[in-house]
Amino acid sequence: MPGPNDAVVVINAGSSSIKFSLFRGAALAPALKGKVENLYAGKTRFVAFDASGMPVGEHTWNDAPLDHEQAMRFLIDHAAEHLQGMQVRAVGHRIVHGGARYSGPQRLDDAVLDELEQLIPLAPLHLPHNLAPVRAVMALAPQVPQVGCFDTAFHTAQPALAQAFALPPSITERGIRRYGFHGLSYEYIASRVPDFAPGLAGGRVVAAHLGNGASMCAMHAGRSVASTMGFTAVDGLPMGTRCGALDPGVVLYLIDELGMDVPAVQRLLYQESGLLGVSGVSADMRTLEASDDPRARLAIDLLVYRIGRELGSLAAALGGLDALVFSGGIGENSVAIRAAVCRDAAWLGVTLDEAANAAASSNQISRISSAASKVEAWVVPANEELMIARHTVTLVEEA
Ligand code: ADP
Repeated sequence: MPGPNDAVVVINAGSSSIKFSLFRGAALAPALKGKVENLYAGKTRFVAFDASGMPVGEHTWNDAPLDHEQAMRFLIDHAAEHLQGMQVRAVGHRIVHGGARYSGPQRLDDAVLDELEQLIPLAPLHLPHNLAPVRAVMALAPQVPQVGCFDTAFHTAQPALAQAFALPPSITERGIRRYGFHGLSYEYIASRVPDFAPGLAGGRVVAAHLGNGASMCAMHAGRSVASTMGFTAVDGLPMGTRCGALDPGVVLYLIDELGMDVPAVQRLLYQESGLLGVSGVSADMRTLEASDDPRARLAIDLLVYRIGRELGSLAAALGGLDALVFSGGIGENSVAIRAAVCRDAAWLGVTLDEAANAAASSNQISRISSAASKVEAWVVPANEELMIARHTVTLVEEA
């Protein structure tokens, strides 16, 4: 068990930022969180906050932007100076893809990193950025054990049919299948269900992680059964800037008829579609909810409609539904979206408690369905970081 001054650092590295969280002691109490943003472009900036949200560190680089390795070096030096007696015992990393092989967290060494680098073609936009800080910590603090936690791992338990595309084996054998993402968020929700609703522990739950990226996952007795994201994180629901599920014929048409090349199609599907593309206003739900532009309304309506369609599909995969869980920035904070989704799910047996829905927030787990509702509805604030910290401690202690 970690001692009171032992700390676990969790790193979530994207293309232009490294987010970090520090958890302390055996209880993994949140002690510090922050980020280094604007890597590679503009003015790189570091901010850190303590557990109560008070700023405890800030720095801006005015001359040249930092890269991942320089940012990690800064964070390690900063930690050495400012951790006041805390000892970093391990570092856990959020890693988008573990392929078919990694069905759980994994100690990271050179051999595993080499294998993960083979998976870069499956997630070229994310995986290189996830791995860069691992290499940096290996070089700068080789004595600190590191653990990789994969967004795909939770979904490796899905039945083969849920993972299959109707494509010939010569294609599927090359790893072209449904993987699913946001697995650490769903695993965290699954881990909490027995505490907040013991009666649901063996039940059929659909969780909706609605953030900038958005997906839904069907879980039976805490295991993933099906999810809306597939081969990549562009499938499923419309998101902030991603289109979600699309007839593949559209892509062929864009290339064949409109003469778009691969980078242009990629930009369209990942950065110019979703809430931003439909509304022409913003990718941010708060802005859309505050706007009286009819296109903003359309973008919200389309998201709610698509959540409803996916909910029906996931409930079919489960053979019924016992609970619906909302998570992620939109799921935790948008009273109106939750109300609309629950209204559309009335046919499944969801009845909302309007007052409980209005009172729910991202600070706590709350039930928002009425006492008589056949299907329970809950808000569970996302906490992928804590899930990673728990996995990291468990794996390092086992060693
Ligand atoms: P990420 O996927 O990047 O972690 P988040 O989970 O933080 O993103 O979700 C970001 C989304 O949550 C944005 O669309 C944002 O507008 C939305 N959001 C945050 N707070 C609110 C709020 N009070 N009402 C409606 N939407 C909100």
